[in-house]
Amino acid sequence: MRYFPIFVDLQGRRVVVVGGGEEATRKIRLLLKTDAAIDVIASELHPELSANERIVWAAKSFDPALLDGAALVYSADKALNTAVSAAAQARGIPVNAVDEASISTFIVPSIVDRDPVVVAIGTEGAAPVLAQGIRARIDAMLPQSLGKLAARAQSLRDKVAGIVPAGNRRRAFWQDFFFGNPRAALEGGDEVAFDLALNDSLYNQGKPAVGRVSLVGAGPGDPELLTLKAHRKLQEADVIVYDRLVSPGILELARRDAVRIPVGKTPFEASPKQSEINDILLREARKGLLVVRLKGGDPYIFGRGGEEQAALEAAGIPVDIVPGITAALGCAASARLPLTQRGQNRAITLLTAATESGLAEHDWTALAQPGQVFAMYMGVNAAGDVAARLLAAGIAPATPVTIVENGTLPNERVIETTIGHVWDSIHTSGVVGPAIIYVGLARAKASADIVPFPVREDIRDAILRAAS
Ligand code: SAH
Repeated sequence: MRYFPIFVDLQGRRVVVVGGGEEATRKIRLLLKTDAAIDVIASELHPELSANERIVWAAKSFDPALLDGAALVYSADKALNTAVSAAAQARGIPVNAVDEASISTFIVPSIVDRDPVVVAIGTEGAAPVLAQGIRARIDAMLPQSLGKLAARAQSLRDKVAGIVPAGNRRRAFWQDFFFGNPRAALEGGDEVAFDLALNDSLYNQGKPAVGRVSLVGAGPGDPELLTLKAHRKLQEADVIVYDRLVSPGILELARRDAVRIPVGKTPFEASPKQSEINDILLREARKGLLVVRLKGGDPYIFGRGGEEQAALEAAGIPVDIVPGITAALGCAASARLPLTQRGQNRAITLLTAATESGLAEHDWTALAQPGQVFAMYMGVNAAGDVAARLLAAGIAPATPVTIVENGTLPNERVIETTIGHVWDSIHTSGVVGPAIIYVGLARAKASADIVPFPVREDIRDAILRAAS
């Protein structure tokens, strides 16, 4: 290690910046995060600098004596860098000449700022792009509320010391403060819940810790469609209880030593009942663990998120919800199928075709009206029945249907058909993966490409017969 990382206290101190252009402005933006007094020496000032009251335009031309007493010196004026560096070094002041490491005595890391928590990343100038990449990843990992949490910890330090004995107990308190319910409450912006959680961990040190459950939407499949929050929850989880629809690529992003419990529901295999899943969540949370209940898409859309939430809340387990991109939205984007479009439709219905006891009932007559657009979940096995109901209710057999199977995943398939042929198409193309069936939507085509779809009366009649 050639460069030794330190944090310099700039409170009430003076930093001199030589140069008033673009480079200097970039450095000053960073310096403005501190409370330093900033003196600029430059023949001309960038408008962003002259507009800022905190910046003092100390002189138009450089004179070594202007550096006297400065805590740090930046030189961002090519013609002056060498002279400024020599003058600073003669006075024993650390100096950074922009883009000239050989005449700098300090370099500035990439930072992630959650003041007072600051993460600095440096590569000693060897790989700035790598540093940027690392910075972005750390930035994504740290919640925006982290700084607020650390500032709260600072202000509570004395109070905690007066209540919680030092040693293991106090460590456990802070562990809970930073990673348990107080932090979750603060993240959720709920001050009342924060006070309750804080008092709970201050005064109930003997009691076993209460865990919590995050109901997290994993999105439609592509790991990059996770939200930043979902990603972070996966990194923090002690236990991950996940559905069959959650793709392996997403589980790879989870903390390595998290315990993984599959509770996959598959159409043809015995799978845990909802009450059994609830029991698993309760059991793990009661061990004081951070449980992530990872669900495909969004937890509140055909995902029983509400039922799990209610069961946990009834048992006194704190729950938070992280939304995800639901399959109908993710698959549409992936298949380039605008869900609303001027001149096409002003509304879209999300519906499930199946319930535990069979075909879901809907107002088929309303759905069969011209111009209706809907996205059907769990519709592969029920598509024939749905088509029959819609045809019986008078839908035009040529109404376009787009099926997206394994949407957003590498094995995605898009099948374009019509309501009169949907059952036929599903069978001939062998759709077996999860699929969204969009009724009333077709991908935009250049008008020359549009081929009128022949209506196959035989299939329509067969479907109608089967349904009657
Ligand atoms: N909560 C989930 C839906 C769960 S129900 C969500 O918000 O997306 C399961 C249904 O979701 C499947 O039957 C299928 O219709 C749909 N689905 C989930 N992932 C899908 C994918 N990658 N491609 C197409 N459909 C998908």
